[in-house]
Amino acid sequence: MSAPIANSTAHWRALDAAHHIHPFSDTKALNAEGARVITRAEGVHIFDSEGKSYIDGMSGLWCSAVGHGRGAIVDAIADQLRQLDYYNTFFKTTHPGVAELAAAIAQVAPPGFQRTFFTSGGSEAVDTVIRMVRHYWAAVGKPSKHIFIARRNAYHGSTMGGASLGGMKPMHAQGGLPIPGIIHVAQPYWWGEGGDMSPEDFGLWAAQEVARAIDAAGPENVAAFIGEPIQGAGGVIIPPATYWPEVQKICRERDVLLVSDEVICGFGRTGEWFGCQYMGVEPDLITFAKGVTSGTFPLGGVIVGDRVAEGLIGQGGEFHHGYTYSGHPGGCAAALATLKIMHEEDLVARVKSDIGPYLQSRWTALAEHPLVGEARMVGLIGALELTPDKARRARFAAEEGTVGLIARDISFREGLVMRAVRDSLILAPPFTLSEGEADDLVAIVGRVLDATWAEVRARGLV
Ligand code: PMP
Repeated sequence: MSAPIANSTAHWRALDAAHHIHPFSDTKALNAEGARVITRAEGVHIFDSEGKSYIDGMSGLWCSAVGHGRGAIVDAIADQLRQLDYYNTFFKTTHPGVAELAAAIAQVAPPGFQRTFFTSGGSEAVDTVIRMVRHYWAAVGKPSKHIFIARRNAYHGSTMGGASLGGMKPMHAQGGLPIPGIIHVAQPYWWGEGGDMSPEDFGLWAAQEVARAIDAAGPENVAAFIGEPIQGAGGVIIPPATYWPEVQKICRERDVLLVSDEVICGFGRTGEWFGCQYMGVEPDLITFAKGVTSGTFPLGGVIVGDRVAEGLIGQGGEFHHGYTYSGHPGGCAAALATLKIMHEEDLVARVKSDIGPYLQSRWTALAEHPLVGEARMVGLIGALELTPDKARRARFAAEEGTVGLIARDISFREGLVMRAVRDSLILAPPFTLSEGEADDLVAIVGRVLDATWAEVRARGLV
């Protein structure tokens, strides 16, 4: 057999199969099939090594907020790296970029959030929360408050702490997770788990599960509740409007800190700067990553509310925690340039009152399709629940996820990146999506649904 030609799809696939272990993948199965090779991205499109273009309906992994190929961000990173390629923020040292970014984040964060701790990404931010919150309670003289309440089917990252707080069973099954001191409660997933309750009643019931868990553990032992304003990887689960205000009330009454994991929702995805603002809650800590640099450089962090900041730093004493890349100059330059674009192009307002509502109205109309039980979207983050029977919110006569994957593969074939979660399809396009691109996107989704419906019926799954 002759060797694959350099700079060809076959060449990259062969190297990849021989040397690369993929995240969240069955690498053996993938190697047999050959990975899709993405070589270029521009605006809302990505291009593969065969020249095929796709609408990037997932903004990469929920990151590319301001669209791909933004020269201003590239230039800002390059200028910064030429000036100061790397230095750390430990040992009594700072640099202009990190100071300016921390101030720029305070400007857009909800009131009462003035300080940021930086990390390389979302998982590290979540792990930082675990250590920071426990340290806070110890510092204010309540060291027994150490337990975290989180939700089943939540996603909080892949580190030991993040995967433990997350409620993904297959993740817990690998590597002996979760770590101790974490209690998982129900998720506010009305479509899947609401039974005969109205969404409003179910939202209150799910919130009361938080109260029951705190009370069972003893509020004197509970440090914090953590939740994504909208669960992303769990399937874009938008809680009923009753849920978050009740969770906040429950936490306040019991003196339990509230952590909003905004790695996906933060920096505009919901049409507000932060998802907690969309949900009408005031958390104590906010984690972020992804959209803050539009995915161009790994950077995340924890925005620390005044109460925790005061407990953490007010009395002095070292917080024994940090990462080599906490406040990396390149990441800070990328984030500053991304925020500048968001401000100049008024992109958060665009998601709230322009392209968001435009796409939402077309997306929710997809619920007319025989295969779609629910079409939900907030800002530019949405899901379609596929079902053989809308009235009963029924599941297909096949292993859960089978139909989702059929639809996802058809979507790629049709030139749109969507992701399948169980038997749902999820979407989170860049904020720069034009109306014409939104029309194209929805037209493709229509074709995907028709082709999936035909295949599902041909296979006898309905
Ligand atoms: N929290 C949430 C809500 C996320 O969606 C993610 C990533 N999808 C993470 C944490 C982990 O972020 P990272 O992959 O950057 O470590």
